[in-house]
Amino acid sequence: MTHSDKHAMLKNLPGVDHLLELAKTNIDFIDIPRSVVVDSLRDALDHIRKNILNSVETDISDKTILDSAQIFAKEKIKPKLVNIINATGVVLHTNLGRALLCEDALNNIRSISQSFSNLEMNIKTGKRGIRYEAIDELICELTGAQSAIAVNNNAGAVFLALNTIAKGREVVVSRGELVEIGGSFRVPDVMSKSGCILKEVGTTNRTHLKDYENAVCDQTGLFLKVHASNYKIEGFTASVGLQELVKLGSDKNIPIMEDLGSGTLIDFSKYGLPPEPTIADSVNSGADIVTFSGDKLLGGPQAGIIIGKKESIDQIKKNPLTRALRIDKMTLAALESTLKLYRDEKKAIEEIPTLRMLTISFKEICQKAELLFKIIKEETGALADIDIADMNSRPGGGSFPQLNLATRCVTIQPKNMSVSRLEVKMRMSQPAIIGRIEDNKYILDPRTIQTGQEVSISSTLKKILNKK
Ligand SMILES: *Cc1c(COP(=O)(O)O)cnc(C)c1O
Repeated sequence: MTHSDKHAMLKNLPGVDHLLELAKTNIDFIDIPRSVVVDSLRDALDHIRKNILNSVETDISDKTILDSAQIFAKEKIKPKLVNIINATGVVLHTNLGRALLCEDALNNIRSISQSFSNLEMNIKTGKRGIRYEAIDELICELTGAQSAIAVNNNAGAVFLALNTIAKGREVVVSRGELVEIGGSFRVPDVMSKSGCILKEVGTTNRTHLKDYENAVCDQTGLFLKVHASNYKIEGFTASVGLQELVKLGSDKNIPIMEDLGSGTLIDFSKYGLPPEPTIADSVNSGADIVTFSGDKLLGGPQAGIIIGKKESIDQIKKNPLTRALRIDKMTLAALESTLKLYRDEKKAIEEIPTLRMLTISFKEICQKAELLFKIIKEETGALADIDIADMNSRPGGGSFPQLNLATRCVTIQPKNMSVSRLEVKMRMSQPAIIGRIEDNKYILDPRTIQTGQEVSISSTLKKILNKK
């Protein structure tokens, strides 16, 4: 194409107004908002202009432009946050939305959100009430703490507590606990943003009570313990238990805070998992403040929960930052319903999806694997080698570091495409299916596959394998 050809073609392109008139009577655009149609027509015209300038053979008829705009429009109106099928076996997957809510929580979100509520009114007095009151008592009942407050997330909880209790003063932390949690939460950074001065003690692998003791000075405002949720130091190690630290703190008149990260209300060792310190353990040890997440092992909505001695929590409630970090009513509704289930541990295990997926018996996993295997084998047995294999799943979400949960997976080795291509195709399908690759096989772990998703997985797999 010569320069003047291009110029002529660009000049001949129809205008947006003309195309918009055509779109008005075009059935393909009938349900698409006008603003989206206009944007899509502009995108289509831009695309064609680029083609012309790059000398790419291009049809500039109205129909072609409208067809192209139709594709842009569909992309624009498609929801961006969508459901996916988690076949990774990672129960608390940070990238996949962490905890799934229980039925009660979902119903309560709907009920509280679609009507007015007493979010900030005391019904008995008719006066202004406090947002946190709905769960304050319940959390105290379940944990043995004197007082509680919930905020937007645990990072916010740690930030708020540090800022309230130790702003401008030194916070003593073991070097072995200066952790980074995925998504840029780093203890030293949160510390400096909250206005506290980090005082590191001990070494990466060993910290002793003496180290804390020697660090105490006029400037000391807090002893902080951080649960190393996502890693484990093994070998020649030593750390100071919460109880010992509480004793030192009371001798020196220094408050103690523990960030549990993924706090749990139940003792997982009863279900064959390694013991994790429970929230009640931390409270019983005498910590002034304990913080934990709502959507990790607790299995509720995203939230940060701060519990502890009344005096400390009262101080936190008065901090103006509380308003900036405050919890939303939908979250509060979900949290109350989730927490209520813990009054009956059996019920909690059955109804809270996170707990159910973590404690599911190997026998039940095998049954799920068998079912998935059968459906997939029937549909795609000719297109791939389908097998069953004993493997491990991970709890994830900064809980139980290094723990492998025994699981039984379905493995797929396609005959006519690479395993990595299959992984991409499954991920790009609707709904997206996220599996993993191990030993050049595509792995589907039934632990995190929800009942009823087997058929959808199998039919997607069949479609992909058939297409090559
Ligand atoms: C996960 C975690 C946090 C952050 O909690 P969010 O709820 O993700 O904000 C803080 N501290 C520890 C130790 C954690 O494991």
